[in-house]
Amino acid sequence: MKIYKEKEVVNLMIDIYYKKKIKKDKSMESEKEDLKKYCAYRLSLCPFKDNKPFCSNCKIHCYDKVHKELIKKVMRFSGPRMLIYHPLLAIKHLIESRKNKKMVKEK
Ligand code: SF4
Repeated sequence: MKIYKEKEVVNLMIDIYYKKKIKKDKSMESEKEDLKKYCAYRLSLCPFKDNKPFCSNCKIHCYDKVHKELIKKVMRFSGPRMLIYHPLLAIKHLIESRKNKKMVKEK
């Protein structure tokens, strides 16, 4: 997946995850922005460039422990909800993810 596209998908998933949390607690806004910035930063430094696997399939996984746990929570929560909020993007992402997983296994 192209890095700019992955940044877009990750940001949408982060928005879904924090939507209700921020309504309840405005201080969560800074955690959300920090996570978005961190993900964008890691993606911009990705050694695989535009041939990168999905981060979830990556053998390096360059995230630090705190952000890795946080993004896992985001993915678990927002993954299924992407089908409601962004159905076409979610289906496309799912198909590409499966292809990518297969490709990573074959290497
Ligand atoms: S986790 Fe892997 S694929 Fe994702 S940005 Fe880091 S090195 Fe690249």
